[in-house]
Amino acid sequence: MSSRELSFTANVDRQFLRAVNLLDLPPGLAQQIRTCNATYTVRFPVRLRERIHVFTGYRSVHSDHITPVKGGIRYSLAVNQDEVEALAALMTYKSAVVDVPFGGSKGGLCINPNDYDDHEIEQITRRFAYELIKRDLIHPSQNVPAPDMGTSAREMAWIADEYQRLHPTEIDALACVTGKPVYKSGIAGRVEATGRGIQFALREFFREPLDVQRASLSGGLEGKRVVVQGLGNVGFHAAKFLSLEDGAVVTGIIERDGAIVSEAGLDVLAVKAWIEASGSVKGYPDATFLPDGTSVLESDCDLLIPAALEGVIHHKNAANIKAKLIIEAANGPITAAADDILRQRGVVVIPDLYANAGGVTVSYFEWVKNLSHIRFGRMERRAQEATQTLMVSELERLSGLIGADKWSPTDSFKANYVKGADELELVRSGLDDTMREALQGMRAKWHEDGRVEDLRLAAYMIAIQKIALTYQSKSLG
Ligand code: NAD
Repeated sequence: MSSRELSFTANVDRQFLRAVNLLDLPPGLAQQIRTCNATYTVRFPVRLRERIHVFTGYRSVHSDHITPVKGGIRYSLAVNQDEVEALAALMTYKSAVVDVPFGGSKGGLCINPNDYDDHEIEQITRRFAYELIKRDLIHPSQNVPAPDMGTSAREMAWIADEYQRLHPTEIDALACVTGKPVYKSGIAGRVEATGRGIQFALREFFREPLDVQRASLSGGLEGKRVVVQGLGNVGFHAAKFLSLEDGAVVTGIIERDGAIVSEAGLDVLAVKAWIEASGSVKGYPDATFLPDGTSVLESDCDLLIPAALEGVIHHKNAANIKAKLIIEAANGPITAAADDILRQRGVVVIPDLYANAGGVTVSYFEWVKNLSHIRFGRMERRAQEATQTLMVSELERLSGLIGADKWSPTDSFKANYVKGADELELVRSGLDDTMREALQGMRAKWHEDGRVEDLRLAAYMIAIQKIALTYQSKSLG
């Protein structure tokens, strides 16, 4: 990024202010919503390899207009206060867009996880968690982290365990963090939730021919040529679902050490296995390797999915982007300057604060599950099956009365109809509903108000209006 580009927080602020300009808010309220409440910086020591290592971590609370506040914990050497605050602000707006009752927070630890073995990462994670727990910056009703770049269910399990150790009598202790493994009171479908949300968002986008046309595309997802940046949690699951379930063709995968391209389409599962085995996309057979990975952002494709870092599409490369549609799986991958250029060029952007909200949505389901202490579907599944079985039996009896050759249910209909929904199906249904509803709301604003130039502006306007409403009943004296 060059000096022409703003900081990450200033980029988020610019998008926020574009929306505020179209809203009629009480004086000072926009400033209150926009401002980050507090950021805690902690430096803590951990004894490793017979010497003391000092780590720097952050937990930022952007807005606690609703509690608990929610947001992932990122492990990366690039973590800094500006980044954590920008990500926390996005969490506030994101939760509002998808109607999830959380304020916005985010955490980060300056660390390259690859420099440490599993046991060391556990020691560092537990110590960082301890520092945040003792200040209620991890707490079931105050502040609930989740995985982000460089962390996964494994770190969340350690955090939950650390919280339980420090609060042995707290009945809701496991609700202090989401994205936990299912065996540690996590929820089915959380690991892939953000990637699944990307798929549901795109399916909903392609249901409206007018929007597809605005992106200079036609038809559905089938056969669309897709480039993905970052084959981590979000990028991998999005690419996997789109290619295996929707017929999209992944023609490019960009990773930290280069990119691979293939017009015939890449096998996402095989590429992932290759990376896991060799640590790189380099050498993957049946594809061309390009050491300058970022140049592939500019390659010819229908759909671009940046799913790694912020600021990767900036004022220098925005004019060269050939994708017609970009879905921001990562947070902040398009700078505000690049966003202006893309808009002028007619490239449609499905914005981060909506697109990657699948993670926080399913985290919400997990948090509710933890507070209710019962698996989704446990009470109603068999009752539902009994009712459906009754219906099928009755249909069979009636068809017997009028002659079996006239109508009888097929075995596959019976099996599918009778089956009660398990937790995974309920989570998917809730996520699908959330992603559809939110995009429909954004689309309505985009279509109905000529001043609303794009989906990002619509999403910010919706988020700000909802947050402003919660302030009406708040004591600000
Ligand atoms: P991850 O650590 O699982 O994966 C990140 C991937 O990006 C890795 O494969 C890494 O090798 C790759 N990468 C790193 N630097 C790169 C570079 N310079 N060029 C290309 N690839 C690079 O992280 P994740 O959880 O998938 O998060 C990715 C993005 O999605 C982040 O912006 C994160 O904030 C956002 N996000 C994640 C979630 C979630 O549930 N995990 C939810 C919402 C948003």
